[in-house]
Amino acid sequence: MADERLLEPGLNPDDGPIEEGLRPHQLVNYVGQKKAVNNLKVFIEAACGRSEALDHLLLYGPPGLGKTTLSRIVAAEMGAQIRGTSGPAITRPGDLAAILTNLQPHDILFIDEIHRLNRTVEEILYPALEDFKLDIIIGQGPAARSISLDLPPFTLVGATTRIGLLSSPLRDRFGIVVRLEFYQVEELSEIILRSAGILNIEVDRDGAVEIARRSRGTPRIANRLLKRVRDFAQVDGHSLVSRSIAAAALDNLEIDALGFDNLDRLFMDAIINKFNGGPVGIETLAAVLNEESDTLEDVCEPFLLQSGFLARTPRGRVVTRSAREYFS
Ligand code: ADP
Repeated sequence: MADERLLEPGLNPDDGPIEEGLRPHQLVNYVGQKKAVNNLKVFIEAACGRSEALDHLLLYGPPGLGKTTLSRIVAAEMGAQIRGTSGPAITRPGDLAAILTNLQPHDILFIDEIHRLNRTVEEILYPALEDFKLDIIIGQGPAARSISLDLPPFTLVGATTRIGLLSSPLRDRFGIVVRLEFYQVEELSEIILRSAGILNIEVDRDGAVEIARRSRGTPRIANRLLKRVRDFAQVDGHSLVSRSIAAAALDNLEIDALGFDNLDRLFMDAIINKFNGGPVGIETLAAVLNEESDTLEDVCEPFLLQSGFLARTPRGRVVTRSAREYFS
């Protein structure tokens, strides 16, 4: 079910090539996240001034907020090559060893979903991050011996939606940790207008603001809703997406004025009506809704928490008073 959601902030198959086209390639086109961007500018300039690789960088925050985009921009600003992989794709220590030994000096190694690296792979990473050394064991049984290879200085950029699942030895090896925040409506409107320009969609400012309001603070969702609104406008014979056309299209998609969709409503309804407002554990909710608990934690919860409708307590999730009013 989650795969079909318009508001799913993770990648959908249909985002692929178009999303690539919408991705900003320079810091000037990277909207918002001002604090993080300003700090990164200083670290990049300082590292470049010393002709060193940038310190290892950890980017965290909900899906679709621009972690991958930012990592590529950092590489471009550093004038470095970027090589990308993901935690689940590196299954054996040998896979990581092969990636590390192919790095060039000052390369950026991007590992998405870094919280999903397995422990044996992670252990190879520690000396690589700290001393640019790769300790590997060659051979088996009594003939096995350990050798240590020098690696070129490189920068690991890790991205994660769940910083809490990162082991502390791994987290401690990142010199720079950046948390990406949900975007303001103004920022999302700017992103939508820029994307509309690239996709040749005519949208006026109010139309962009309407889409932005319902995009859960997430650029990936904003771009996706823009494309769906365009479909409605086109089929209805409108050449310009205005506020009322955007609103009607989003109503048809059952995305409400604050950006909540059906799964959010089912989620909140379950806590309010089946568990009397909580507290209730996430696994119980997942079972009741027939959803993966990871989906609920990655997709539903962050924006509900941010909106002040949900709170996390040691005993489980509870809804706030405003949630009872809004979702009743
Ligand atoms: P994440 O890696 O956090 O899941 P991405 O970096 O893949 O997110 O971003 C998803 C899409 O949203 C990108 O393709 C890009 O078009 C858009 N996007 C993300 N952040 C920004 C931003 N700050 N400014 C403009 N567009 C953005």
